[in-house]
Amino acid sequence: MDFDLTEEQEMLRNTVVKLMQRHAPPEALRRWDRERTFPEELYAAWAEAGLLRLPFPQEVGGLGGDAVDLAVVVYEISRVSTDLAMAFSGSIFCGLNVLRKGSEEQKQAWLPRLLNGDIKFAIGISEPDAGSDVGALRTTAVRDGDHYIVNGQKLWTTGAGLKNSVISAYVKTDRAAHYRKGMSLLLIDNNMPGVELRKLGMLGRRSVGTYEVFLKDVRVPADRLIGGEGGGWDCLMSGLQYERAVSAAGNSGGSQAVLDLAISYARERVQFGQPIGSFQSIGHMLADMQCDVEASKLFMWRAAWLVAKDRDALKEITQAKLFTSEAYAKIANMGVQIMGGYGLNEEFDMQRYFRDSRSATIAAGTSQTQRNLLANLMGMKSR
Ligand SMILES: Cc1cc2nc3c(=O)[nH]c(=O)nc-3n(C[C@H](O)[C@H](O)[C@H](O)COP(=O)(O)OP(=O)(O)OC[C@H]3O[C@@H](n4cnc5c(N)ncnc54)[C@H](O)[C@@H]3O)c2cc1C
Repeated sequence: MDFDLTEEQEMLRNTVVKLMQRHAPPEALRRWDRERTFPEELYAAWAEAGLLRLPFPQEVGGLGGDAVDLAVVVYEISRVSTDLAMAFSGSIFCGLNVLRKGSEEQKQAWLPRLLNGDIKFAIGISEPDAGSDVGALRTTAVRDGDHYIVNGQKLWTTGAGLKNSVISAYVKTDRAAHYRKGMSLLLIDNNMPGVELRKLGMLGRRSVGTYEVFLKDVRVPADRLIGGEGGGWDCLMSGLQYERAVSAAGNSGGSQAVLDLAISYARERVQFGQPIGSFQSIGHMLADMQCDVEASKLFMWRAAWLVAKDRDALKEITQAKLFTSEAYAKIANMGVQIMGGYGLNEEFDMQRYFRDSRSATIAAGTSQTQRNLLANLMGMKSR
């Protein structure tokens, strides 16, 4: 058993740490969060450093990295901001779908632009009536010559309004068929005629943003259909393990950042003539947070390692997503408590992590659905 990162992975980690220090300093982070704006220059810096190339094979211009390499990057970006990490990982997850399920022409058409940072991808699954129940989605795409006419609405589409964002929209191409057969994946530019976007007022993730997307008679060229007609469910499922393992890295990075903030505050803040960290109640909270952070990392590295080895690891990955997301929300809550009033003040970063952490147990599959899946995998069949 080897728990060390390789020399290359340590170098990668250092590169990301330095890049984030340079392009996402604390004052700027606070401003982007407050003004709900996204730093396009940071995305360009990720592209320039080759980070968007990392998990793609060399044949398409990638660097041939695996899930552990990607987890290293997402962990470090998330230590700075789990909000910003979504712009990075969302693009990569959708790009990997194109790699897995796209034709040669589609890979050539889309991947170089993604890898260069010219376009971003956003994931458009959820709708007003289709949350955990993905099969209930209603957006339709009807074939009309060499186009599809798309009508419907997407909800909570993270990053849909960013510059040059392409929405990976899951649509019904056959309403009569079971959703596993009647669903397809279409790539829709966020500025195509008939696409309307509204940035939603959310508790957290304010910089990348979560959008409502209205699609009215949008004419989408048929060559933007990935995975063939009816292949949408397959596309969705093909990336699930990878995505959840990497999202566990984001939760772990956010948790570590909260713990670091809480430790330094507990050392410095003096009440009753002594640092608050010396009060047993605060010290014990920090000790519990430390254990949860370490457990999160163990779940996460193991999940990423199993994905990198191409093993079917649905159970381990589900555990990682469930545990790390709940731990992040719990740790951030304790972090606020340790900082007292300062924990809730916008001039301090704890409240941002607290707000961003809250979506971890909801986005990319709620904790309840993870428990359903886990219980099923343990042989407890739920309805
Ligand atoms: C910040 C944020 C970003 C997001 N980004 C994206 C994105 O980029 N793209 C995208 O497509 N979606 C995105 N989502 C949507 C996310 O995937 C959904 O919110 C999630 O799947 C839950 O759906 P819902 O909110 O409709 O809740 P519902 O499915 O309505 O669930 C409500 C409650 O019921 C519980 N519940 C539902 N079904 C069951 C069941 N069978 N058993 C037990 N409990 C159940 C849930 O766990 C939850 O507690 C995002 C959400 C958030 C909060």
